[in-house]
Amino acid sequence: MTSTESFDVIVIGGGHAGSEAAAASSRYGARTALVTMARSAIGVMSCNPSIGGIGKGHLAREVDALDGLMGRVIDRAGIHFRLLNASKGPAVRGPRAQADREIYRCVMQEFLDAEPNLVILEGEVTALKLHSSPLSASPFLESIVLADGRTLRAQSFVLTTGTFLGGKIFRGRQCMEGGREGDRPSTRLAAQIRSLNFRCGRLKTGTPPRLARASIEYRVLEEQHGDDNPSPFSSLSGPLTQTQIPCHVAWTNENTHAIIGAALAESAIHRGMIVGVGPRYCPSIEDKISRFADRSAHRVFLEPEGYDSEWVYPNGISNALPEKVQNSMVASIEGLEKAKIVRYGYAVEYDYLDPRDLKPSLESQIIGGLFLAGQINGTTGYEEAAAQGLMAGLNAARRAAEAEPALIDRADAYIGVMIDDLIGRGAPEPYRMFTSRAEYRLRLRADNADQRLTDKAIEWGCVRQERSQAWRNKKQKLAQAYARAQALEASPTRLRQHGIEIKADGKKRSAFELLAQFPVERLTGLWPQLGEWSPEIRQHLENDALYQAYMPRLQRDIDQFRKEENCQLPRDLALPDSLSHEIRDLIRTHQPRTLRQAASLPGMTPAALIDIMRAIG
Ligand code: FAD
Repeated sequence: MTSTESFDVIVIGGGHAGSEAAAASSRYGARTALVTMARSAIGVMSCNPSIGGIGKGHLAREVDALDGLMGRVIDRAGIHFRLLNASKGPAVRGPRAQADREIYRCVMQEFLDAEPNLVILEGEVTALKLHSSPLSASPFLESIVLADGRTLRAQSFVLTTGTFLGGKIFRGRQCMEGGREGDRPSTRLAAQIRSLNFRCGRLKTGTPPRLARASIEYRVLEEQHGDDNPSPFSSLSGPLTQTQIPCHVAWTNENTHAIIGAALAESAIHRGMIVGVGPRYCPSIEDKISRFADRSAHRVFLEPEGYDSEWVYPNGISNALPEKVQNSMVASIEGLEKAKIVRYGYAVEYDYLDPRDLKPSLESQIIGGLFLAGQINGTTGYEEAAAQGLMAGLNAARRAAEAEPALIDRADAYIGVMIDDLIGRGAPEPYRMFTSRAEYRLRLRADNADQRLTDKAIEWGCVRQERSQAWRNKKQKLAQAYARAQALEASPTRLRQHGIEIKADGKKRSAFELLAQFPVERLTGLWPQLGEWSPEIRQHLENDALYQAYMPRLQRDIDQFRKEENCQLPRDLALPDSLSHEIRDLIRTHQPRTLRQAASLPGMTPAALIDIMRAIG
């Protein structure tokens, strides 16, 4: 390779964001390079060996619907699958799977190796070379420099440095430089980025100790099994047949809390050593003890890290306590009295860049041609990172090809919700996805991600032939099933003859309407042809039927949202004198792009909005 090789797109970082970005760019047809510190660490799960959950599972399905990697990888690597919230409505059900960490890493690398337009280069990126042009207000990124002196050029770049940018690891009074345990941080790049015009800050996250499997007394612990019929994350996977292994549940107790309470002053988190803000929704055990002092026990899920792994991940006790305190804390838990810690928990603090400086395409407004994705944008979690990575990689490739950006809005997908939240409100604390963040939950379900997104993805040019074909087949089957379910009708009397009790109002009802109240099995006595549907098609129809009554109202809300979203606020909008200082400050700080974003700012008033609308004209 020459020292100034050129690509269409260069992705920096081989974590969850970087892998999806590189794959999406390659699928689009762009000549792509993935530059990462350690090739062997591509696909490593830094913390919890699991994918999905409520909200996160929706994101993982959406990544799959856009032909991303995550769903296919976890379907191969999963060792314990559960549909969370299974007893609640389909809109808030979240698929989750624990992974065999090693299989996940290997399968991710296998998929990336198979990408036809992708080369993977090992190296540390130490500098960004910018070019300023009199024709554009902001500089653009021209090339990157690696620690070994190589310079690589591209049309577009995607930066996905995760927890590595200025990364520091904390445990008790110890503080070490590191992106995560065992990996060096990215310090030279951090120094350059801090000197540029970005708004940056520090965030933190933490991880629990890992325990030796053989040292756990499983007999006294509650066992938790995976689902009998696990639902795959990828619509390409087919039925999952691998052996599932159980996890176990342990509980902290008052003694555990007393040990932690007495050592709070020694925790890096509570000693004020860490300035970065941590994830409120995924608190450390120190935070749980302090914030929920009335709770006498907290649950700890003991999750195996793989079929052959001797390591167990105790989900729920992430901390930055000194090693000796971690030993006592673990030993105080029933079933873990003799548990051996094979790696101690720690917190990591890192630089992030304020995502309010991004465009909806995830391209930086400060440096042209530079896209940002993942933890660097203030999010936490593999799914959030993967979803941003996919969109950033695709948009970087589209920019290189001079195509319009591919954009997803809040009514289309959780990905749209996340990007809109990030660029509109920033990430004052690590951002993780929840279903409560979405306004149009009944539409944005994990089960219909392909119906919402795959056609768009085909249009954007990031879908392989295999998925296009599979989706075309499924779409055809779905259309036939809907047509049939709507055409079949019966009166209450006829329904009653088949054991289906319905209000005797003489009104005929279609099979589709009835599916809102009765599962398919109850209707096959009357209409045996419904029994021909595959379980997947059945599920789609049952779920759609359940929410059909709400759809007209939801559609009206979405139309209104899109009207406001399309009402752009010019960047040089002269703010009317009638606006208060507070509202002016709010607008200056957040720089909303649309009327809808302005409306959703905390502190915005209806009167101020009317004044802004008048100013737009
Ligand atoms: P990462 O997975 O961090 O990947 C960054 C990549 O960039 C790495 O491959 C690195 O080598 C590469 N890189 C960085 N700088 C350079 C450079 N200069 N040159 C070349 N390559 C570079 N998530 C949760 O949801 N819940 C949790 O509880 C949780 N706890 C965590 C605890 C710890 C200790 C850590 C480290 C992470 C935790 N996470 C947690 C976060 C989760 O790991 C990340 O959200 C996810 O991995 C982010 O993906 P990413 O692709 O943005 O970054």
